[in-house]
Amino acid sequence: MLHVITRNKYKLSLPMLLSALTAISVLLTLVVTITASYQSQRETLYDTTLQMNNSSAQKMSLTMSSLFQSMRGSLRTAADYLSDHPSLDDSGIIDHLEYSRKTSSYFNSLFWVDTDGVVKSISPPAIALKGTKLTTAASREALNSHASYLSMPYVSTTGRLIILMSEPIYDSNNHYEGFIGGTIYLQEKNILNTIFGSNPIETNGSYFYVVDPSGKLVFHPDPTRLAEDVSRNAVVQKLMAGKTGESEVVNLKGTTYLAGYATVPTTGWGIVMQSPVQTVYEQLNNQIRSTIIYMALPFLVIMLVAMYIARKLALPFAALTDYIGQAAGAQETPPPVSPNHWNREAHVLSQTVVLAVETLRKQSEELSHAALIDPLTGLMNRRAMEGVLSKWTATNVPFGLIVMDLDRFKCINDTLGHQVGDEVLKCLANVVQRSVRSSDICCRFGGEEFVVLLPHISADEAFRLAERIRKTMEKEPTPANRVITLSLGIAVSPQHGTDSSTLFRLADEALYAAKEAGRNRTMLAALRDQ
Ligand code: GH3
Ligand code: MG
Ligand code: MG
Repeated sequence: MLHVITRNKYKLSLPMLLSALTAISVLLTLVVTITASYQSQRETLYDTTLQMNNSSAQKMSLTMSSLFQSMRGSLRTAADYLSDHPSLDDSGIIDHLEYSRKTSSYFNSLFWVDTDGVVKSISPPAIALKGTKLTTAASREALNSHASYLSMPYVSTTGRLIILMSEPIYDSNNHYEGFIGGTIYLQEKNILNTIFGSNPIETNGSYFYVVDPSGKLVFHPDPTRLAEDVSRNAVVQKLMAGKTGESEVVNLKGTTYLAGYATVPTTGWGIVMQSPVQTVYEQLNNQIRSTIIYMALPFLVIMLVAMYIARKLALPFAALTDYIGQAAGAQETPPPVSPNHWNREAHVLSQTVVLAVETLRKQSEELSHAALIDPLTGLMNRRAMEGVLSKWTATNVPFGLIVMDLDRFKCINDTLGHQVGDEVLKCLANVVQRSVRSSDICCRFGGEEFVVLLPHISADEAFRLAERIRKTMEKEPTPANRVITLSLGIAVSPQHGTDSSTLFRLADEALYAAKEAGRNRTMLAALRDQ
């Protein structure tokens, strides 16, 4: 079955496939690299942010702890001074309170409350509470505790949001004489915002806040939220449980933060340092954007170089495919421009294919030669003769033909052997070729029968030529060492017919007649009756 090579322009070529494969590989590598880098950077940023916030919260906790210790120490000193100096008059007490308040700036106000809860003395004196009985729950608790006390945020008698820290005062006989209280005005300039900053929101949106043990805000960048109960916040709950650590948290307003948190042991307060997760993503996006920008150009170059090499690699195979395709179609094609290639396989394949195609072509030429030539005599064989005949018939070339047959040849074979017989056949072939015109075609028709095709010839000329053959053979020294003769029959177109089969038949009949008439003679075919 003959397989037809089909060319389909919709099929992908090897150079295109390899180039596309290379481009896709490089692009996928880029995508994977960027994705992996995104993941790892995200984790790193998350962890770093959490750890930084945790360490900030810890540091602030230490700072706040020592601050409160100092505050309490300052209050205690003032309380001790007052109990050690019972003789101080009103102005002396105020002077001392003023002195204490101004030297440390810990408290917004300092005051002495007697055992009835009445303000005995206050600094600054401008707060006109002297002689006023304090009714707030915090002041009552402070009074009744007879001990160190720290309040939750509450609204004071003067209407301010404050925190109260107090130390009890005892006289020399250990009689309770009330307490000395120090306040922090949460919504005004105070010691907390002096130390921790009045606008503690950093450019990346990070900020911290402080809650008291009940979960109320005592410090927050948004002053309107002070004293707000945020105990429902997951991180605040952990702080209220005395825990320290870091975690992702959604605040009460629905924003996700990365928070570090620490408790302040001296007060039971909790500090939360947190960064909006959104800013982590923004940072991450910026990093990825610059990664892409840095990687894009090298990757583009790598991709183009790889595509170029892939194409160069594939081109010889494409060229070979075309070459083989054309060779299979029996077209004479020059071999691919350069069968030399730096790739070993392409080089070997190119060389081998070119060699194979050339060898095949030579073999096929030899085969077609062998198919048309008689190997013994070197004359055309019957098949070749028929090819010539059909060409002449198609182009109306007038011709004659001589059919010849050796006389008593069987006897030569029988007496001298087949090999000598073959030599005699060669000898006759030689005689025939020598005797004919250059335009005539000599064939070994089969066995010891030969045919000469004679284009554009008259019967007389054909006869003369046949006789020349016969006579030459008669005189020719033969390998049989004896005279060998032959008989010949002639038919010529158009006298004897125009188609080759008629001419052959008539020439055969003439040959038969020559044999009948005694052999070693030439007979012209009889003319047909008109
Ligand atoms: P005639 O004069 O009637 O032609 O007698 P003949 O003996 O030649 O008879 P015929 O033509 O029938 O004999 C053909 C012989 O030719 C038979 C065979 O032995 C011999 N022959 C045919 N082909 C070859 C060949 O290739 N080589 C040799 N050596 N002999 C051949
Ligand atoms: Mg014969
Ligand atoms: Mg014969």
